[in-house]
Amino acid sequence: MRKAPTKMSASRALYTLDRAMQERLLDRAFGAQHLQRALDYFTHAGVEGCIYCGHKLVERWDHLIPVSAGGGTVVGNMVPACQPCDDSKGAKDYRRWLAGPAKKNPVRGKPEVYAAVVARVEAYQCHFGYVAPADFRAALDATQVAQYEAFLRVVSEFRSRLAQFGLVTVPLSEVEAEQEQQV
Ligand SMILES: [Zn+2]
Repeated sequence: MRKAPTKMSASRALYTLDRAMQERLLDRAFGAQHLQRALDYFTHAGVEGCIYCGHKLVERWDHLIPVSAGGGTVVGNMVPACQPCDDSKGAKDYRRWLAGPAKKNPVRGKPEVYAAVVARVEAYQCHFGYVAPADFRAALDATQVAQYEAFLRVVSEFRSRLAQFGLVTVPLSEVEAEQEQQV
């Protein structure tokens, strides 16, 4: 059976654009030496492989607190993860994912393992003094919030224009719907 070709989505492109803007506004300090500090910590703490499941093949750096919730790309919020865990977690907060019903959640239905993984994560955050913001806007200063609001207005206008070509539907995008919930 052949698969139908993948369809490009304008909504997905708008989502990517929003994510790029969010990453630009949030703290970012994760160069080679930061990455090494994180790895040194995990070696010292005896955490091997994926922080969630211990899988030896670590292919990703995952945001514990997702970008959409104000999680910066910084030591204390970036953790080594295997590809299945990272894909399954997606853009969710790590606690929500670990406590949830996802098939690939390695601690699903194992409360004692859940507690151990959360304790491991909290020790890491605490070691680097990382404090999770209340939400995306709480991670920004007033100027950045104004910039983000202006960006959203531009996107909203652009979205209406795209709707004229049938590329997006007029109802609120995921991004805008999420903004509304935060209000
Ligand atoms: Zn894993």
